[in-house]
Amino acid sequence: LFISIEGIDGSGKSTQARRLADRLRAQGHDVVLTREPGGSPGAEQIRALVLEGDPDRWSPHTEILLFTAARRDHLERTIAPALAAGKVVICDRFADSTRMYQGLSRGDLRALVDQLHDLMIGREPDLTLLIDMDPETGLTRALSRNGAEERFEAFGADLQRRMRAGFLTLAQEFPDRIRVIDGNRSPDAVASDVFATVKGATS
Ligand code: C5P
Repeated sequence: LFISIEGIDGSGKSTQARRLADRLRAQGHDVVLTREPGGSPGAEQIRALVLEGDPDRWSPHTEILLFTAARRDHLERTIAPALAAGKVVICDRFADSTRMYQGLSRGDLRALVDQLHDLMIGREPDLTLLIDMDPETGLTRALSRNGAEERFEAFGADLQRRMRAGFLTLAQEFPDRIRVIDGNRSPDAVASDVFATVKGATS
């Protein structure tokens, strides 16, 4: 079972991914909790190349290639072996984040993102949980984190709003795969909803 968790910065994705992993482990599942960009040694190196340093170092096209390369390595080295061994994989962000951030934030490159995805990745999660969150609240949370990747925060509230709207549109595009979870609630309430949604979708 391959589950991804998506949403804008500060939506609580990582917290919810961890809590879902804990809960599934408590039920006896063998769970691999992983993240993007990153999730394998090579992909973590690409993450550092993309997220650290000068935000204008890479062109939008090169950035798509780097994110796709990172995902390919992550899939080959971490995700596919875990799935083949019958484990549950929970991934904090996956291809939907690239459809949004690389596809929409610097021009309309969604078609290119999708083409590269078809060529080099070729698979989607079985289930995607979209943690929907008020953009301003998410931004405030993301900015308050230590060590947050400032490069993306420079785009600010406008980017957050566009990404939030984009993710909700994406959920309509993939209604069988993407479930929208209201993230504007306590972490406990969101976690219960996440768990119930996974149970409902897999039983
Ligand atoms: O999810 P996480 O906080 O690790 O993401 C790090 C940063 O990278 C965030 O600011 C996010 O907006 C950005 N990002 C991106 N494109 C992706 C995935 C993440 O710009 N495909």
